[in-house]
Amino acid sequence: MNQKLSSTLTPLGEFALISRIAARVAPHESVITGIGDDAAVTALTAGMRLLTSTDMLLEDVHFRRAWHDPYTLGRKSLAVSVSDIAAMGGIPRWALLSVAIPSDIPLDFIDDFMRGFLELASENNVTLIGGDTCSSRSGVTISGTIMGEQYPDLIVCRSGAKPDDDIWVTGTLGDAALSLSLLENGASASYPLLSRLLDPTPRVSVALALAEAGLATAMIDVSDGILADFGHIAELSGVGGTIRSADLPLSDIFCSLTAYPSDISCRLALSGGEDYELCFTAGGSNREKIVACANKCGVAVTRIGIVTNYSGVTVLNLDGTPFTALADGFNHFT
Ligand code: ADP
Ligand code: MG
Repeated sequence: MNQKLSSTLTPLGEFALISRIAARVAPHESVITGIGDDAAVTALTAGMRLLTSTDMLLEDVHFRRAWHDPYTLGRKSLAVSVSDIAAMGGIPRWALLSVAIPSDIPLDFIDDFMRGFLELASENNVTLIGGDTCSSRSGVTISGTIMGEQYPDLIVCRSGAKPDDDIWVTGTLGDAALSLSLLENGASASYPLLSRLLDPTPRVSVALALAEAGLATAMIDVSDGILADFGHIAELSGVGGTIRSADLPLSDIFCSLTAYPSDISCRLALSGGEDYELCFTAGGSNREKIVACANKCGVAVTRIGIVTNYSGVTVLNLDGTPFTALADGFNHFT
């Protein structure tokens, strides 16, 4: 049972709003019963396992309406979840979307939000199969749940890194954190840099290609900063690692705006969150195959370090000396 949306949001009310959303969802052969019944019915691919992940986006914690237009907010609401499925080597398939909306939000906001959400869904072959809708007394809350599939042997966990594996990362690091810091300081920031924060691209094709080729031993998406996120791989794999600052992939705009090399550029690149790139580990004999695989997907990959057989993550300065005194990534309760 939901508290009904106030008529000031729209004369539509909750159920017409759901119908409005449902009308925009393209059917998919895997969805036997989608939005509209008590539960969705989906057909799983024989032999595959179900992967499930959920994420919340809270106004003024994860996004600000002043910075984030509803269309890109809709895209990002699903992108962060698609990224989780990608990081497991999974094939994204179905999504559930729960929203709590203040009743004074214009219907246009919802329409633009849904356009963004459903566009990113269609780009990634994901079908919206349900959700929940209620009114909120304080801000917009979005909760997206995604399901994906993969054959058991191809699923890539955080726990598989082996000593002497290379540590790799896709794309560039720090752009999203730099955008956030510019916005927070009231500085002007322009696309394409801003889009790295507001409209991140989940790295699905390269993740799937790596998984299908059996090239990655462990994988995670970089949501809290490479240091923290590789730290999760290290911890769950019972290993450690050395990350070379000099090898971190940085965009030209990032280097110029942070006056690279500088303390701030290192800090943002190592500990800045929300890039939604992939960090993965792989045996040293697979280097050429990995580069070829990434090239085919049009995504850059960079080797940034090496897995060690002792615990702890060490960062090496540009001159090769160990780096210290770093906060290690975004943490909600610190
Ligand atoms: P119930 O009261 O049984 O939870 P609802 O009235 O909340 O049912 O939902 C009716 C149908 O609409 C369900 O299929 C549900 O999954 C779907 N639904 C509700 N809100 C959303 C939404 N924001 N996006 C997509 N589907 C939704
Ligand atoms: Mg409900």
